[in-house]
Amino acid sequence: MAASQGDAPAGHLTGTDARAGRVRGVAGGPWNVAAAAGSMLAPRFRFPARRRAAAPMTVPTPTDRAARWLRDLDDALHAGRADAAAALFQEDGCWRDLTAFTWALKTMDGRASIAAMLHATLARVRPTGWTLDGEATESNGTVEAWLRFETAVGRGRAVLRLRDGRAWTLMTMLAELKGHEEPAGDRRPLGVEHGAYGRGLPTWLEAREAWRAALGRTVQPEVLVVGGGQGGLGLAARLRRLGVSALVVDRHARPGDAWRSRYRSLVLHDPVWYDHMPYLPFPDHWPVFTPKDKMGDWLEAYARIMELDVWSATTCVSARRDEAADGWVVEVERDGEPLVLRPRQLVLATGLSGLPQVPSFPGAETFEGTQVHSSAYAGGAPWAGKRCVVVGSNNSAHDLCADLWEHGAQVTMLQRSSTMVARSETLQALGWGRLFSEDALRRGITTERADMTLASMPYRLLAESQKAVTAQIRERDAAFYERLRAAGFLLDFGEDDTGLSMKYLRRGSGYYIDVGASALVADGRIGLRSGVRVRALRARSVVLDDGSELPADLLVHATGFGPLSDVVASLVSSEVAERVGPIWGLGSGTTRDPGPWAGELRNMWSPTRQRGLWIHGGNLQQSRFYSLQLALQLKARSVGLPTPVQEGAPA
Ligand SMILES: Cc1cc2nc3c(=O)[nH]c(=O)nc-3n(C[C@H](O)[C@H](O)[C@H](O)COP(=O)(O)OP(=O)(O)OC[C@H]3O[C@@H](n4cnc5c(N)ncnc54)[C@H](O)[C@@H]3O)c2cc1C
Repeated sequence: MAASQGDAPAGHLTGTDARAGRVRGVAGGPWNVAAAAGSMLAPRFRFPARRRAAAPMTVPTPTDRAARWLRDLDDALHAGRADAAAALFQEDGCWRDLTAFTWALKTMDGRASIAAMLHATLARVRPTGWTLDGEATESNGTVEAWLRFETAVGRGRAVLRLRDGRAWTLMTMLAELKGHEEPAGDRRPLGVEHGAYGRGLPTWLEAREAWRAALGRTVQPEVLVVGGGQGGLGLAARLRRLGVSALVVDRHARPGDAWRSRYRSLVLHDPVWYDHMPYLPFPDHWPVFTPKDKMGDWLEAYARIMELDVWSATTCVSARRDEAADGWVVEVERDGEPLVLRPRQLVLATGLSGLPQVPSFPGAETFEGTQVHSSAYAGGAPWAGKRCVVVGSNNSAHDLCADLWEHGAQVTMLQRSSTMVARSETLQALGWGRLFSEDALRRGITTERADMTLASMPYRLLAESQKAVTAQIRERDAAFYERLRAAGFLLDFGEDDTGLSMKYLRRGSGYYIDVGASALVADGRIGLRSGVRVRALRARSVVLDDGSELPADLLVHATGFGPLSDVVASLVSSEVAERVGPIWGLGSGTTRDPGPWAGELRNMWSPTRQRGLWIHGGNLQQSRFYSLQLALQLKARSVGLPTPVQEGAPA
């Protein structure tokens, strides 16, 4: 991550020598970043105006146009002219800032909002050293340029999109803190003290064991991460590299058990290119779709290789603030032993789901079969030849129905309302594949570049772009959708036709990524009753509101989970949960995502309204990328850097 230390991935610096702080234009002339010593904003970007005036008339290249815009931005910022900088944006242009300016994740929508942010932050942030990171490109009238810059405390990276000479989008992100760079590449530790034999120095193992024995007992962690799934482990790896002591607690017996404990046939829905953990990508023979136990083993190995401090078989019971110590008092049970931990920062990485939601059907107590929520479903083996009813029609419902069918059960899915279905293969071809695939890698789009490209598109604009993708998906798979409809399946494509990704971001539910169950539904091997509700349960049957009755030995509630704020309420308090407010969702005003518009995923990876409380999670791609932003915010606090969160963002 040492942006200016020359360890950026290959392919990022085409035509650019960022290490020397210079940008080469197409004409080959150096555009210097002057090191004006003593200047508050030095070094600054310089555009070679005189040299270019003397050159023969040429059409400015995308790089020329991006460089000119960058010079104007630098001039405005250097002069402290927030309004002039905002005027370089389109009227409805967006500036998405990840920690670099605002110490939060925040999208400024429109010139007025951009100007307000700059007025509030410029004097403190002192942005400088803007350089082009490679040649700019142009597609459909949009110029795209990758940038590097510095602030008073850190080094940043940015992605700029220009339309008609003005910024349509700018994403700035903090990449590292000055003086706290990760010990990677040239900075890696030696691992040995040569010539130190016989002095009684501890070996790596001895030092590690001593630290593990002390942590949580005689030494308190700076950060306590509750939840050791992929989210908690990835964040802990980032914190370890930044030298922040972090302890992960998880109620499962071993890291990776969150995946292992899921039903037998589960395979990740997202392809391998999307799923890498921070720092340690899967090897290139890894299957495209990782089986869940393989994922569990990988996470367990990851925790060891990255030397993470994980307490397994440890449940977090409660957490309360100790204002005097500016920290937390957290009660945990480790292998049954009650212990109190006193971290400064508390991160909940307990998964995006709140508590399992089980509908209360009249007569539930008279049902003599087995009832289980999808989160407790262990697999179809006991149900061969049995009659099974699955309530729900989203991801889990489909996977469970397929699993039961594979085990020879007679299974019926009950669909109450419509579901967005997208075939995994199609999503790969039309959605993820552009950024996350072998083909993308061949085009030089590394995981880091793909992550930043995704992050560079503000959510409001992402929703617009998803309409086009959804239309393509519908066209490509028209016959598939027709078969599903013919079977009676109720389909939707998002209430504003923005499709699966936006449903995920807005509400985290309402869709199925088809990895095969839809064919079973379409041809009737999985029975389907749609547009119906359960009226009541009887001893061995489920009665529907159309009067029909389904015999049932097993009833699975694939009915989802409550909001994550329920977890905050149960671990901390309902007052804190209320103060923090909704977690996840954008405030789009669509079903299960009530407004107001937040512009960012609410309370994720960003300061919450409860000092010292943070929420981390999301899918593997989100956890990988945003864990860096969260880790940098935690690092800054651990070393006492002032971190004033910009007004308008949560305090
Ligand atoms: C069928 C299915 C398929 C999926 N496919 C994909 C996919 O392909 N790609 C993808 O990215 N995601 C996928 N997901 C989503 C997946 O669940 C999440 O990406 C991932 O599990 C989130 O990781 P996490 O670490 O945030 O949460 P989790 O993996 O849920 O981990 C949370 C951890 O917190 C622990 N915990 C909770 N409360 C406490 C407490 N009080 N004390 C101690 N420990 C606690 C739990 O034991 C758990 O280990 C899928 C989910 C399902 C159900």
